Amino acid sequence: MVKSDEQHDPLQQAASWGRRLRRVRIVLPVAAAFFLLVAYLGDISPLQALVGFGVISAAALIEASGQSTDTFAARAREDIGIYPGDLMIDAVISGMPDPVIVLERDGIVRAFNAKALEIAPALTRGQPLSFALRNPGVLEAWRRVTTTGAALRVEFFQRVPADRWSEVLFSPVSPEAVPGGRSMFVMVFHDMTPLRQIEQMRADFVANASHELRTPLASLSGFIDTLQGPARGDADARERFLVIMKDQAERMARLIDDLLSLSRIELKAHFHPEAAIDLVATVRQVADALQLLARDRGVGIEADMPADELMVLGDRDELIRVFENLIENALKYGASGKRIELRIARETAPEGDEAVVMVKDFGPGIAPEHLPRLTERFYRVDVVESRAQGGTGLGLALVKHILQRHRGRLSIESVLGSGATFTVRLPIVTPSRHGLNSKVLSVS
Ligand code: ADP
Repeated sequence: MVKSDEQHDPLQQAASWGRRLRRVRIVLPVAAAFFLLVAYLGDISPLQALVGFGVISAAALIEASGQSTDTFAARAREDIGIYPGDLMIDAVISGMPDPVIVLERDGIVRAFNAKALEIAPALTRGQPLSFALRNPGVLEAWRRVTTTGAALRVEFFQRVPADRWSEVLFSPVSPEAVPGGRSMFVMVFHDMTPLRQIEQMRADFVANASHELRTPLASLSGFIDTLQGPARGDADARERFLVIMKDQAERMARLIDDLLSLSRIELKAHFHPEAAIDLVATVRQVADALQLLARDRGVGIEADMPADELMVLGDRDELIRVFENLIENALKYGASGKRIELRIARETAPEGDEAVVMVKDFGPGIAPEHLPRLTERFYRVDVVESRAQGGTGLGLALVKHILQRHRGRLSIESVLGSGATFTVRLPIVTPSRHGLNSKVLSVS
């Protein structure tokens, strides 16, 4: 069993002799002086003095080597399976951001960092990897790596301790680089979970969008078939069906319009709008435009807005879309409350002043379990009601994305049975300070 690398490494051997000589630096000169003196006094011959000095030196050096703290430490570590170079490996991998495990060729865990315990909490130095990581794909990859000696990349999924996708790269370490010339392999894990979640979201999105489009399309083609077949000569049926078909075609158009808007806004997600917009005028314009719908629904809009302008950096059309969605939702879903409140105010926040726009309705409200999911694409509390109201399920997702691009925030509060409040916060700019006077767009 080779546990000490000193026997092989000339550099380590030299360092060990250096340590021993330092430890006998007093004994040896004293012994030399003693034998010189005795020989000088003629009590012993020079040869006897030399032999005596040699014996004392050898004894002192052997004693010093026996007392080596490094050897003691190495022996102590041997009991728990730690090799001399392991502490250096530990130090290096502890600074790495990804989980890392160092393995011997026989699959014994040599070292690992704290991050690796998140993937395999039972990892123990000196024990086989398979005790702590039982994934068949990983173990099979490990078997191939030890057979071929070549690097290998494999992806795996874990449910425990948490749902997590990881990619693991096995890399052989050149034996020359390892003290004692041992064969070692490094496993580096890379967390693929965020990437996989995005892929899943995209797949869900395409499935949802297709489903939303297929429903009105199926209805349209059904009516076309009926009009071409059994109802060919029926003028009454034709009139009724055409109204429904127009409705379905409009629904498809709204959906496509919202999908395109979402994708356009996502494309611009990292570009912040730069035009200075008066938020008060913008919200007032939207409220005025929705008066007709409000009257239709029997809802009164009560506005509490400052007389002065509140300037924010924004894209006018996108901000109009935000307030249209919120006020329309309040009118559609909160109509039973008979009134909505629109309030604009300026508030002081740690990062600077904010414009706060509140849209409050007094309708049925939203149960707390739905609140965190309302801004997900196609999420609705009640799909049938949303469709009946001409909803696409994309309105609040659009609002969220537009606000993110504007460095703004949306918060939703609701008490079931008492209504819902949607609050938008946007950072205020002072046009004169930012030299933006020339860019101000007036909204009338
Ligand atoms: P939709 O096109 O369905 O209106 P949104 O994304 O705008 O889609 O809204 C998502 C869902 O949130 C709606 O379907 C509705 O269930 C719920 N919702 C939105 N606003 C309100 C509100 N003011 N009161 C009650 N429910 C609301």
